[in-house]
Amino acid sequence: MSGFVFSEKPIRIERGEGAYLYDDSGTEYLDFGASYAVTPVGHCHPEVVEAAKDQLEELMFVQASYPNSARDACYEALAEVAPSGLENVWLCNSGTEANEAALKFARSATSKKKIVATRRGFHGRTMGALAATWKQKYKKPFEPLAGAFETVPYGDSEALADAVDEETAAVIVEPIQGEGGINPAPEGYLEVAREQCNETGAALVFDEIQTGLGRTGDFWACEGEGVTPDILTSAKGLASGLPLGATLCKDWIAEDAGPHGSTFSGNPAVCAAANATLDVLAEEDIPAHAAEMGAYLQERLETADLPIRDIRGRGLMTGIEVKRGSNRLLKELALNHRILALPAGRSVLRLLPPLVIEENHVNSMIGALSETMGTTMES
Ligand SMILES: *Cc1c(COP(=O)(O)O)cnc(C)c1O
Repeated sequence: MSGFVFSEKPIRIERGEGAYLYDDSGTEYLDFGASYAVTPVGHCHPEVVEAAKDQLEELMFVQASYPNSARDACYEALAEVAPSGLENVWLCNSGTEANEAALKFARSATSKKKIVATRRGFHGRTMGALAATWKQKYKKPFEPLAGAFETVPYGDSEALADAVDEETAAVIVEPIQGEGGINPAPEGYLEVAREQCNETGAALVFDEIQTGLGRTGDFWACEGEGVTPDILTSAKGLASGLPLGATLCKDWIAEDAGPHGSTFSGNPAVCAAANATLDVLAEEDIPAHAAEMGAYLQERLETADLPIRDIRGRGLMTGIEVKRGSNRLLKELALNHRILALPAGRSVLRLLPPLVIEENHVNSMIGALSETMGTTMES
């Protein structure tokens, strides 16, 4: 049995280009999920492919104790896009590892233990990040997980302020919850988290693994809120699908981060792909494009007269709360309209397309949703 933790889809994907994926018979699918926000600059962007290929021919791997120019360029590129003060970079291979590092660094730098996380939060599947994750289904069979975690309702400033005390090492929070249903933090919530961490000496960790890299219209979602964390984690689309996670942190965290490591940290070929991805994001001003397309998608959704309960999100991170099961809807979109999207729980349709989509792609999606939901468009 291989890949047995996944429920297999009936479509075999063999090729990708821009906003499209192709199955083994060449059928084209418009990708509105980007395999959970993994291809911000589109599938197989030529600059990213070329950079990775060139680096593979030069040097596939050397351990991170040996400086290497592809890795150094990645450190520099990330320091450049980091929120001010978070220029210290740790590289790893996935989102959950970036969060493990964040939690370990926070405990080491504060010499405290308690971690405060939020209801419906998702931070990954390893024992520490999983302890910060909400869904019981993901946790129960694997307990005991890492200890000293406390969960508070997401968006409740008072509950957060109560929970964060002198014993607290870190608060970990997504500026917009992804897996939890596309829930943006209410206004002022992240600021309260910042203030409470300042008062108690806890590290504020923003998990921007899904919200980062321009998806919300800002490079990082926290920039749109004007709140800077002590630690920020990124992964998903950072190297356009090659495995890369990053933990960015302030000096006081980096200076006392504790012993940590990983064999594959800063693999040169993966770094080359990340450098090219970050170049394309800047060159093509993709965050601004995501803001524009996100606004267009939002407007089309609002005026399409669809039988939906709610539209949430920012930029090209969109949740559509539907009246009937999201899974059946997703299946119909894929099989009848050749559009791939994602769920976030049973009642939310989650759209995380490559950030390079254009108006015609949005129009196709609106048309497909209208047909699938059995209504006609107004416009
Ligand atoms: C996907 C995701 C993770 C976990 O990343 P992996 O690479 O799957 O380990 C953590 N946090 C958020 C917000 C995510 O969206």
